[in-house]
Amino acid sequence: MKKTLKQIANWLDVKNAQFEDTIVTGVSIDTRTIKKGDLFIPFRGEKVNGHRYVEKAFENGAAATVWVMGEPNPPKDVPVLFVEDSEIALQEMARQYRNEHNAIFIGITGSNGKTSSKDILASALSPYYKVQKTTGNFNNQLGLPITILSLDEDTEIAVLEMGMSGFGEIEFLSKLARPHYAVITNIGEAHLQDLGSREGIAKAKFEIIKGLDEHGVLFYDGDEPLLQNLVGKEPNLNVESFGFNEDNSLVASNIVTTEKGSQFTVRGELNGEFFIPVLGEHQVKNALNAMLISKSLGLRDDQIHFGIEQAKLTDMRMQVIQSSSGILFINDAYNAAPTSMTAAIQFIQTTHMRSEKWLVLGDMLELGENERQFHEELASVIDESKITKVCLFGNRMNWLYEKLQNKFAIENLIHTNDDYEQIINYIKHHASEESIILLKGSRGMKLETVLESFK
Ligand code: ATP
Ligand code: MG
Repeated sequence: MKKTLKQIANWLDVKNAQFEDTIVTGVSIDTRTIKKGDLFIPFRGEKVNGHRYVEKAFENGAAATVWVMGEPNPPKDVPVLFVEDSEIALQEMARQYRNEHNAIFIGITGSNGKTSSKDILASALSPYYKVQKTTGNFNNQLGLPITILSLDEDTEIAVLEMGMSGFGEIEFLSKLARPHYAVITNIGEAHLQDLGSREGIAKAKFEIIKGLDEHGVLFYDGDEPLLQNLVGKEPNLNVESFGFNEDNSLVASNIVTTEKGSQFTVRGELNGEFFIPVLGEHQVKNALNAMLISKSLGLRDDQIHFGIEQAKLTDMRMQVIQSSSGILFINDAYNAAPTSMTAAIQFIQTTHMRSEKWLVLGDMLELGENERQFHEELASVIDESKITKVCLFGNRMNWLYEKLQNKFAIENLIHTNDDYEQIINYIKHHASEESIILLKGSRGMKLETVLESFK
């Protein structure tokens, strides 16, 4: 963007800006990553007060800074905007910039698959439009405004991830971004602790329609009855559904995976054979929503075909890594909850890529009072006739360990609370070029640590 400090002051209704002609080309809340021309927005955190870094921000290229009134020793003789609250200022700037921007805005929420869907969609549209997307996981009340403010003025499509941990958050983000298209990827169990039930989770995600453009369309996982229910109560909402069940607007079947990706057949709004260079049946669903949006934008079938073949995911999402000794790792260690854990295990069980199938699984965190049950239930997903070895990591995985003891021989099953070395050594001793090894656990478990020994 390119704004004068005066224009930004007007957005925020700030009267006493200094050096109003200063040109601002972006915003930053972190002096370590600040870029030349950025407006620095300091936050007062629990441990660190960002206002102490204003000088550093200017050293690193900031064009101007925000300053919260009441903070001691405001800077003198530099371009500064005095505000009442940094977070509100950031959000208001994003709201104003969004309102004057001509891009098509796409908001993506859901329990699992937001980042994957965002990446697939952005890859699929990039050959035809100037696309920008949320970087990394910048999907909350700070990340979303920062993402919006990082959009170039000539960007044609903005793909925005929207995350949440409680009610009201998606409504807030959606009203800020006012998407033309909204996606609900699925409903899982993450944040069960805060939202009480899967119904609660579905309702919280469904808040995305509150900010949807009046001519906008909601794309949702039609295999999820909870979403079907909510859609049923909104007769005036434009909707399209995707999934594996026959009654969806776009249906995928005959999924065949190789080391290179997934081939599948679609019926409905589009028909034919498609391919994505990404592993996992659940990623096919994420491709379906990208295909429906591509179709709504008016792309031809051959363009959609080509588009999704460009799909590229962020690291640690079903990432294929071959070790020097020939072991094939599937690194899905970015995060885990029961739905995504089940999907990944089923992928390993059904793949023909390798004959010796391993699971290296870490604790699933933040599941609330039923966490024990969720861990134990994985025992019924794991098919001992298909899986060769299981390594479990973390205190909670001990619950699954106990359930698996009668399914696996003692030499094929290990558990450790926190010793990565034990797992590494076990893999070194027993895995071969016949092995495919899934690494998956919650972010806090850092299971990718295991990989470092095999690079
Ligand atoms: P976060 O809330 O952490 O930002 P996210 O919604 O962005 O998560 P991804 O990072 O895309 O989700 O994927 C998280 C995990 O969920 C990965 O293990 C991925 O393989 C799995 N996953 C992706 N899409 C789906 C889906 N549609 N259904 C179930 N699991 C999925
Ligand atoms: Mg994400």
